[in-house]
Amino acid sequence: MTSMDPSSTQHPLHEPPSQLPGAPPQAPQSTPNYGGASGKGAEGSSDSGGNPFEGLVSHLRRSWLSGRTRPLEYRVAQLEALGRFLDEKKDEILEATALDMGKPPFEASFSEILLCKNELHDTLNNLAHWVKDEHVEKNLVTRLDSAFIRRDPYGVVLIIAPWNYPIQLFLVPLIGAIAAGNCAIIKPSEISKHAEKLVAETLSCYLDNDCYAVVTAGVQGTTRLLENKFDYIFFTGSPSVGKIVMQAAAQHLTPLTLELGGKNPCYVADSCDVRNVARRVAWGRFSNAGQTCIAPDYVLCSLELQEKLIPALREAITEFYGPNPKDSPDFARIVGDKQFRRVRALLGSGRLAIGGQTDEEERYIAPTVLADVLPSDPAMQEEIFGPVLPIVVVTSRDEAIDFINARPRPLAIYAFSCDTQEVNEVLDRTSSGGFCGNDTLTQVTLPSLPFGGIGQSGLGQYHGRFSFETFSHPRGCLHRHMGLEPLNTPRYPPYTPQKLGLIMATFQIKRRGNCTLL
Ligand code: NAD
Repeated sequence: MTSMDPSSTQHPLHEPPSQLPGAPPQAPQSTPNYGGASGKGAEGSSDSGGNPFEGLVSHLRRSWLSGRTRPLEYRVAQLEALGRFLDEKKDEILEATALDMGKPPFEASFSEILLCKNELHDTLNNLAHWVKDEHVEKNLVTRLDSAFIRRDPYGVVLIIAPWNYPIQLFLVPLIGAIAAGNCAIIKPSEISKHAEKLVAETLSCYLDNDCYAVVTAGVQGTTRLLENKFDYIFFTGSPSVGKIVMQAAAQHLTPLTLELGGKNPCYVADSCDVRNVARRVAWGRFSNAGQTCIAPDYVLCSLELQEKLIPALREAITEFYGPNPKDSPDFARIVGDKQFRRVRALLGSGRLAIGGQTDEEERYIAPTVLADVLPSDPAMQEEIFGPVLPIVVVTSRDEAIDFINARPRPLAIYAFSCDTQEVNEVLDRTSSGGFCGNDTLTQVTLPSLPFGGIGQSGLGQYHGRFSFETFSHPRGCLHRHMGLEPLNTPRYPPYTPQKLGLIMATFQIKRRGNCTLL
């Protein structure tokens, strides 16, 4: 595994790591532009005329074509190495995410370590079963043959990750990519720079350097990286960058997954346990200082419920973070100055009900609740991605559903009610990537559920078996008997009505329950 940044100004160039005990041999240093030793930036450099990542991509493709990533034992060994990375680098991961965004170690232990380990264990527990060819139904003509679906690796895949869960959001897709037998380039976010540095410097100690590489790059470097032909691209980030990635993928007709963001509505019915709702919503909104793609972005409820919810939210916030959340070790900070200013600008929406305090130096924004927010207010024009919860008043459940359906389809919808029917009605009459009734975020803890968006919130899904499927091409295979030629004779010219009758009888799929004999 090699980390490569021929361009980054954030930290020194990474030399390819020296050979580690037990690690497979390094990529040959003669590979063009490999390792960035020249220091010529990928950030727009065209001195050489070539693409600075071309050598790396071709090297990985050669490794993939050699077949070394295909055997199950190889995949299991690499996945187990990822588990060692998580175990041995746990403290560094907690430290890096704390430095990047003040992520509380408790939250990082859960979201960056435990959820990744769960994905890993789920994959290791099931992989031997998932990789098996799936034998399928046959017609009369092929009855003696073998028809099956082979889950084939795509080849060299590119994984581009965002900054908010900087380990989980590259590692969980990587588990799927390795499990499916691919080579991979991982491009962490340059915004979470401590996590990026850690991944770039240490992941190579665990994985096969000929098949997996970390590239550190900003926008220009990633643009150059995307000029290369990949066999699959897995992108997590904002819808606007998702469009850029999709356009780059289109140049090579590369299939891709887009895990994007957006505004996740949270409908709260009058018939609910207000205290429980407040705790579950506050937890979902204010964890990681609101920088979570599936966080409830805004609440939809009646005016009466809003007035009950505000004191309950205040109580939950005080219970979680004390009287001054700024002093709480359990409340994170905004990742960067640009992101801080963007979120702060949304605080003028509606009526300030809770919080609102900010400290630019610390990039602190207090857990904030905005009441009586109008659909036209700034907080309702973009994904908040910060610790701010607007409440939009609606007069009925129908109005809430119409409000949701009039907007781009979100990554998640939340609905709270003591009446199961009410929760089901929101589920039945709306569309979103995922759904959770009577809680927030918890759906992401189950590898048995697909995770992904729809429409504006993304394309494709992953987690658990869905990750394996995402990174596999379902190759339809038919392996016929060399003999038994008389079975084929009816399809060959010269055509006759008798042959056509035979063909109809042997190839036809009959509609079930449509038997004309009875
Ligand atoms: P982003 O789109 O700005 O960046 C994501 C990645 O794309 C980074 O690695 C970045 O370096 C790269 N990038 C940025 N601009 C680029 C460009 N012009 N060309 C090529 N690459 C470029 O997103 P972000 O700010 O890192 O993350 C926040 C967004 O990600 C939010 O919208 C959030 O909802 C979304 N998100 C989605 C999920 C999910 O699973 N669906 C998870 C986390 C975050």
